[in-house]
Amino acid sequence: MLIVQCPIPGCDYTARHTEASIVSAFISAHPMIHAPSAEAKVKRVKRPTITSAGTSEDWAYFQAT
Ligand SMILES: [Zn+2]
Repeated sequence: MLIVQCPIPGCDYTARHTEASIVSAFISAHPMIHAPSAEAKVKRVKRPTITSAGTSEDWAYFQAT
């Protein structure tokens, strides 16, 4: 059993597995949870895109009828 602890201070996360490659994958994917602002940015970018697309679709529908 291999155990790798998260390098972020104050985080209790440990990746545990018998395969070193699996532990490596876990510990490399884990830092995502330490960056909630990055995820929030993605959502903020998507919302105006959907809004503007819906507006242009509404205009196309309005003009077609
Ligand atoms: Zn962590």
